[in-house]
Amino acid sequence: MFAFDNSYARLPEIFYRPAKPAPARAPKLIRFNADLAQALGLHVEGVDEERLAAVLAGQVLPVGAEPIAQAYAGHQFGHFNPQLGDGRALLLGEVVDRSGQRRDIQLKGSGPTAFSRNGDGLAALGPVLREYILSEAFAALGVPSTRALAAVATGEIVRREVPLPGAVLTRVALSHIRVGTFQYFAAQGDDAAVRQLADHVIKRHYPSVLAEENPYLALLHEVAAAQARLVAQWLSIGFIHGVMNTDNMAVSGETIDFGPCAFLDEYDPRKVFSSIDQRGRYAYANQPGIAQWNIARLAECLLPLLDPDEEKAVAAANGVLQAFGDLFQAAWLQRFRAKLGLVGEGADDRLLVSDFLDVMHRGEADFTLTFRALSKLAGGAADEVLVEQFNPSVDLGDWLMRWRARLDDGRSPAALQAAMEAVNPALIPRNHRIEEAIAAAVYGDFSIFHRLVDAVAAPFTESLASADLRLPPRPEERVTRTFC
Ligand code: AMP
Ligand code: MG
Ligand code: MG
Repeated sequence: MFAFDNSYARLPEIFYRPAKPAPARAPKLIRFNADLAQALGLHVEGVDEERLAAVLAGQVLPVGAEPIAQAYAGHQFGHFNPQLGDGRALLLGEVVDRSGQRRDIQLKGSGPTAFSRNGDGLAALGPVLREYILSEAFAALGVPSTRALAAVATGEIVRREVPLPGAVLTRVALSHIRVGTFQYFAAQGDDAAVRQLADHVIKRHYPSVLAEENPYLALLHEVAAAQARLVAQWLSIGFIHGVMNTDNMAVSGETIDFGPCAFLDEYDPRKVFSSIDQRGRYAYANQPGIAQWNIARLAECLLPLLDPDEEKAVAAANGVLQAFGDLFQAAWLQRFRAKLGLVGEGADDRLLVSDFLDVMHRGEADFTLTFRALSKLAGGAADEVLVEQFNPSVDLGDWLMRWRARLDDGRSPAALQAAMEAVNPALIPRNHRIEEAIAAAVYGDFSIFHRLVDAVAAPFTESLASADLRLPPRPEERVTRTFC
């Protein structure tokens, strides 16, 4: 089924522990991502659903799989834990997809590993469905992210606060190498392993840095740049990751680990949903600063590789951290310029964007619907279409005047609207819809989940069929807390 070629398993054994999926009682396929399977070049024609479910639940090991639990460490909410590792996931192996891209095939929720500590290694249905919805929404939104190949119900009961049905997610990633993977070896003072890991990452994700004078410094810069772009993109769609621990930051620049994440409904830069983020460390607007902090932790791991002279190494690393700030600012402005329909660079663009965000905050405006309404204004709709997104206390008149003056660049209203609607999604997976899908699925009704996954695949179109999914929550539907 998979044409495995497992480069990570060929690294020395200190990088992982052998792992064995736990047999599930009664695996049953919930959803299989046939498009992704095709892109991966999987051979699933003629494989019956029962066998597919067995393989994707870890029941039957496919030929060529070498299941391992990857070792990693990480700063969790700022506190360093020298040993985390895949405690409820295992890497089945890697495949090279049809475009020549190497990708990990990971099972999440397939039983305990050497890194499970006190955990059961299992995943409840809810988090599996949440990740499926989110990762496929991200793919459609064009945000780098791990993907969901399948969700399988295990037939097992998972004990959380209450007993819940168990499930396994098959996750596809460019790799699962994290900032925390580097930290694992750096914390042990194992410079040779850090170098080996860096070489693996360069070969796999950033081969172009080999042409640079200092490839390891260039690697650090590439990872920083990828994260700067990624976080700017998160902010541009109103996304809050929720747990930006260093073990949840992939060096590939993909979004990874959809735990208590959430999309904003009304805009509030200090917004936090995660039930475990009591101090708001990972609030919406803190994300760029946290990403930079995480990159600083990666830089510390790489110091011995950057320069034999420690002072020079630190100076070089600091240069990258500074560059992160500039790269983020540039990426952020580029994203929000496009959201406002601005072409070229105006001296006051940053202010124009931040003033809009300010008025959105004061006006408790829905992040997604407001940018979509603004796109309609650009196309000639009445101001009312935008104004109704805000509470009546705010006045948009002055801002709209400045925006229109800046906008005047000769494009037709229709062309302008189309350009803006191509970057301002109409439909994001809203928290209350995700919760609704999960709640029904726990009782065996997967129809809401399927409908939501289908809908998020076309985020930029306003189809009549998904009109209800685009709406913000009514007061009684509002989700205020999200859980892992
Ligand atoms: P996360 O919060 O999902 O990033 O996970 C943090 C760490 O806890 C990772 O090392 C996970 O593998 C581990 N972990 C989370 N949930 C479980 C579980 N149910 N069983 C074992 N390990 C877990
Ligand atoms: Mg994690
Ligand atoms: Mg998680």
